[in-house]
Amino acid sequence: SAPTAPLRARAEIDLAALRANVRTLRALAPGAQLMAVVKSEAYGHGAVRCARAAVEAGAGWLGTATPEEALALRRAGLPGRIMCWLWTPGGPWREAVEADIDVSVSGMWALAEVTAAARAAGVPARVQLKADTGLGRNGCQPGEDWAELVAEALRAEADGVLRITGLWSHFACADEPGHPSIAAQLALFREMVGYAERQGVRPEVRHIANSPATLTLPDSHFDLVRTGIALYGISPSPELGTSADFGLRPVMTLSANLALVKHVPGGHGVSYGHHYVTSGRTTLGLVPLGYADGIPRHASGNGPVLVGGKWRTVAGRIAMDQFVVDLGGDEPPVGAEAVLFGPGDRGEPTAEDWAQAAGTIAYEIVTRIGTRVPRVYV
Ligand code: PLP
Repeated sequence: SAPTAPLRARAEIDLAALRANVRTLRALAPGAQLMAVVKSEAYGHGAVRCARAAVEAGAGWLGTATPEEALALRRAGLPGRIMCWLWTPGGPWREAVEADIDVSVSGMWALAEVTAAARAAGVPARVQLKADTGLGRNGCQPGEDWAELVAEALRAEADGVLRITGLWSHFACADEPGHPSIAAQLALFREMVGYAERQGVRPEVRHIANSPATLTLPDSHFDLVRTGIALYGISPSPELGTSADFGLRPVMTLSANLALVKHVPGGHGVSYGHHYVTSGRTTLGLVPLGYADGIPRHASGNGPVLVGGKWRTVAGRIAMDQFVVDLGGDEPPVGAEAVLFGPGDRGEPTAEDWAQAAGTIAYEIVTRIGTRVPRVYV
């Protein structure tokens, strides 16, 4: 609900934009189901609210990294298919099995633990076998390791302890058009899926596509696409284009109210280290957000902010709770709105602009907005 009192700062979350993005992505992958990736508090947008909106708009699956995140969605009342993929020893696997959550398994240790959890729960686990087709991170290596994992999972399935619901993998370079690893990963994925199916695996879903693959590689859609960043209306990479190029609308708008506006003379050092010194008499505005709120310190001297219809630049270092903008002699009132990023259609910068200013990816910009910033759902 909308705030009734002025706030220091807020992240406005446009759920209608998120729903529209779900519809846009589903239209791009018409033969596949859509998994809304809502890990890490839906990339900083709020997991439960975004998950509900995504399901309403047609997402058939929800994806998280940890089982705790998946369980939190179930506890919030989200029905349907939920998958988590970050296996760690000693995780709440029994609870996950009891809550009908699909669990990813990349190796024999995980398979043994999930199987034990299913026996203790007295219900079969829903297990998705993950293949490392070239990311070199999580996932089972091709060849003997895969053969062993598939065989053991099939034995457990025959015992009624689990059901192999999915075969899946993840791209390393889908955001780099034409990267040779894309075709290599796709070929190996087909091979590893084919092998498992010849052994008797009958998966409900086979999947490898993340946002960049969903947007640009139709051959990779298989039965399901797992979209995270695109759901939040952000392009995975400037190399692929802007969010507008794909018809996606940014969901988060981050803004604050100026806490102070003051005149200073020329030669005035600004913020820690005096990395900015005013070139003449000017006005400074204080934005009450800092790196503790997730504003990247690497964007010191560089990050763009819309105040009074003009782009201003962060003057000097971003501190823990505040930073300064040089208003160049303009005198907006204290409390004037400072928009750090949003969809861009009111002239404000985007999260993609902040990523460029900080030398990082837009994923990091939205995901790191801290808990001290209230999310306001509109
Ligand atoms: N699938 C897996 C396994 C992931 O870890 C992620 C996020 O990193 C995604 C899908 C979604 O990626 P993206 O945000 O690029 O759509």
